[in-house]
Amino acid sequence: MIAESTVTLSGEIITPDDDAYEAARRVFNGRIDRRPALIVQCATADDAAQALRFARDRGLPLSVRGGGHDVAGRSVNDGGMVLDLSLMKRLEVDPQARTVRAGAGLLWREFDQGTHRHRLAATGAPFSSVGLAGFTLGGGLGWLMRRYGLGCDNLLGVRIVTAEGNTLRADAREHPDLFWAVRGGGGNFGLVTELEFRLHPLRRVLGGAVLYSPGDAPQVLAWLRDHALALPEELTIMASFVTVPPFPLLPKAIYGASALALIACYAGSARAGRRALKPLRDLARPLADLIVSLPYPRFQQAFDFYVPAGSLNYWRSGYLWNLTDETIALLTEFARTMPRPLAHMDLHFMGGAVARVDREATAFSYRDAFAALSLVTTWTDPAQTDANLAWAEDLWRALRPHTRGVYVNFLGDEGPARVREAYHPDTYARLAQVKRRYDPDNVFRHNQNIPPAGD
Ligand SMILES: Cc1cc2nc3c(=O)[nH]c(=O)nc-3n(C[C@H](O)[C@H](O)[C@H](O)COP(=O)(O)OP(=O)(O)OC[C@H]3O[C@@H](n4cnc5c(N)ncnc54)[C@H](O)[C@@H]3O)c2cc1C
Repeated sequence: MIAESTVTLSGEIITPDDDAYEAARRVFNGRIDRRPALIVQCATADDAAQALRFARDRGLPLSVRGGGHDVAGRSVNDGGMVLDLSLMKRLEVDPQARTVRAGAGLLWREFDQGTHRHRLAATGAPFSSVGLAGFTLGGGLGWLMRRYGLGCDNLLGVRIVTAEGNTLRADAREHPDLFWAVRGGGGNFGLVTELEFRLHPLRRVLGGAVLYSPGDAPQVLAWLRDHALALPEELTIMASFVTVPPFPLLPKAIYGASALALIACYAGSARAGRRALKPLRDLARPLADLIVSLPYPRFQQAFDFYVPAGSLNYWRSGYLWNLTDETIALLTEFARTMPRPLAHMDLHFMGGAVARVDREATAFSYRDAFAALSLVTTWTDPAQTDANLAWAEDLWRALRPHTRGVYVNFLGDEGPARVREAYHPDTYARLAQVKRRYDPDNVFRHNQNIPPAGD
């Protein structure tokens, strides 16, 4: 156990004997039920460095926790130490320079509210409870990405504690290899305590959803096949098969019905946005059309009801490179049997600023994909587990041949071959070299792991 004499922390140490333990070991995905020996809630970078050295010297399994939102639940382990950064919530905006230094424990909800006070924003997660750090280090697909790039494209630098326990700044000038690797390579290279982002002027967006009947899905998706990547870059869209929620602004008659939702976020003037969105609103007769101008943080939280904390989750995912008639037919067919009310099938359309960044500039692969597809089952009653897993697996078996590559942050516990699939072979080889340089003993391995080259 950590003795006060070996480590002096300003944060908290929680053990299985503490009342706080049960809540502290839980993560977003309620299917994850791991029991670490120690949870160290770090308040400072120095806390993190000390606790890391302690775990490494004793060979304790080590997990790093930001927002705890990872569907694979790698931020918690059995019998080891969790380095929980959730107390590290400093947010320092420099409105003149349009930059922000953000603590690794922030959630996107907190970050967005803090930068919004200055009428500034960066690409963050579409759900407000996702953690800043895990999202950004894996890449970061969010509502502003076609305009401002991925989450990691807005990163100017990080403070990072390496496996040796040294604290470094990694940016374009200092440790550029490490800076390259943390933009897409996940938590493999060290413990990030602070992230510095470039911000963009943004106060309101034109956003919301147009809901179409599943019967119209083939023609709506066929239109998106031909036009999604050519839409104005201010417009980021997602097509999601959903169950219509009992949301007061929607007609009661469609509560609980299946729908294809075109969820849109236009980050620009409302007038130009209305023009850009017009074709998406006229693809068939909508069940409902809820596109409004609203402050960006409100839009960013608008879909949180689909992700209740502690719900049970199982995902499958891959990149689509086109939207063939066969893929459209499979999605439409499986929408009929999709578990209700929380499961959804999402197509995050790429293009725009995401695709303009050079493929070698960061470790995020597959910028040129058409869409990231995620098949998300979410339920609350454990008796529904088998049905949810069976539906997701049946659909994945049928869809997998239509995909190539996967976004690392959408991976479940799927093994090393799938982690490799998240990267171009040359990117993976380069990541393994950086890993060998900064973490040759693979101290940071409770993640979507990239072992050091030569292992
Ligand atoms: C419902 C839901 C919706 C999502 N939607 C999106 C989406 O639209 N777009 C998208 O891009 N992603 C999305 N994600 C995925 C999300 O980006 C990842 O799960 C991400 O890892 C969450 O970050 P976190 O800090 O909350 O994770 P955690 O569970 O805390 O951490 C996940 C992993 O990230 C690493 N990590 C976290 N913090 C640090 C740190 N400070 N230093 C080093 N390593 C660290 C660790 O390896 C850790 O195991 C979604 C996830 C869920 C569950």
